[in-house]
Amino acid sequence: MSFSAIVFLLAFAAAVWWFTRNVRRIRRNILLGREEDRTDRSGERWALMAKVALGQSKMVVRPIAGILHIVVYAGFVIINIEVLEIIIDGIFGTHRVLSFMGGFYDFLIGSFEVLAVLTWLGCAIFLVRRFILRIKRFWMPEMTAWPRTDAGLILTFEILLMSAFLLMNAADHTLQGMGVEHYVVAGAFPVSAHLAQLFHFSALAPSTLIGIERFSWWFHIIGILGFLNYLPYSKHFHILLAFPNVWYSKLKPKTEMSEMPRVTGEVKSMLDPSIPPPAPPAEPANGLPSEHFGAKDVFDLTWKSLMDAYTCTECGRCTSECPANMTGKLLSPRKIVMDTRDRLEEVGKVIDAKGQWEDDGKSLFSRISEEELWACTTCNACTQACPVNIDPVEIILDMRRYLVMEESKARQELNAMFTTIENNGAAWAFGPDQRMKWTEE
Ligand code: SF4
Ligand code: SF4
Repeated sequence: MSFSAIVFLLAFAAAVWWFTRNVRRIRRNILLGREEDRTDRSGERWALMAKVALGQSKMVVRPIAGILHIVVYAGFVIINIEVLEIIIDGIFGTHRVLSFMGGFYDFLIGSFEVLAVLTWLGCAIFLVRRFILRIKRFWMPEMTAWPRTDAGLILTFEILLMSAFLLMNAADHTLQGMGVEHYVVAGAFPVSAHLAQLFHFSALAPSTLIGIERFSWWFHIIGILGFLNYLPYSKHFHILLAFPNVWYSKLKPKTEMSEMPRVTGEVKSMLDPSIPPPAPPAEPANGLPSEHFGAKDVFDLTWKSLMDAYTCTECGRCTSECPANMTGKLLSPRKIVMDTRDRLEEVGKVIDAKGQWEDDGKSLFSRISEEELWACTTCNACTQACPVNIDPVEIILDMRRYLVMEESKARQELNAMFTTIENNGAAWAFGPDQRMKWTEE
């Protein structure tokens, strides 16, 4: 086995190992959430996933960003099919091993080149929109230094990867034309042939061209492996989670609040003594906190809310549709989701460091204020707008439940209503005996 094949194998194995380790960490973090069954109506779920995740139906509601996103997404995913060939070539020291496919291979390489240019342009336009035109939703307060840098890094990285791919093909195409050994004549190069002309590659010595081709090849594959390992630290992880996250969407009407099975069980048992009260909650394992009414910390949210947090693309479509945010309230649904993810990461780091959860004296309320929570009108414009079916309202309602049921911290107006419900069995301050009085007026 050649030296370069050994280096390639080591780099590949290290990248796969590190990526798997991080994915397992994220999976463990998501499973810290409460259980919830989201596997019913599977046919509907597959159809929804095909429409929203694969078809990106919600992205094209805003046509410019939507179409650009589809181009970049399709380009990035399809071009990476070529990685298969790169891996085989890297291990066995072959060159363009799949070229035996003849005309179909030429068609594939030609299509990849066209997609690479479109992806390059799409990313460049995204960069201009974000950093030169400074579209408002990318510069809201929760878009602090890291989220902005993250987005810039991803787009720049994709541009570099596409450039390396085209440069590699341009050098390869010229070497093929020169009849240099090892460079089999294969592939169609509708874009890189022009690049080769533009940079006068035919005037370069074969050794220089081989240097350019090899550098671009290594840059491309190491870049892809690096990109793979960057995903778990970035909002770009949505590439992987968007599909399952949409599959596990809430299929009930958006405004339907989730039940609290323990409370429902208690009420049923009070109303009908033949129904036994629910069993007390099991003692939590590994130092995890005991169950709360509502959500104080990430452990009290459902695993789906935690998966939502890792799936957020930070696009800000939710916040830009939020009436509370539009009218100057503190609430931003994107911030709620980002704060949940950041808190979950913080919890995960404690577990990594100590081997199990140890209370760090913080909670979701260390990041999300009561003022934000009570500003929500529960209109669900945010869930409707989200291109990957994230549900920020579920987090907001669970945290409000905690405030009301465990801390007795409802808003003044609600406290008045709770009292009248308790006294009169209705939201108005009249006893049941006075309810029909209006008919006598
Ligand atoms: S449900 Fe709440 S957070 Fe979502 S858009 Fe409406 S007011 Fe904003
Ligand atoms: S919750 Fe959805 S709409 Fe809001 S920023 Fe995240 S991905 Fe975008």
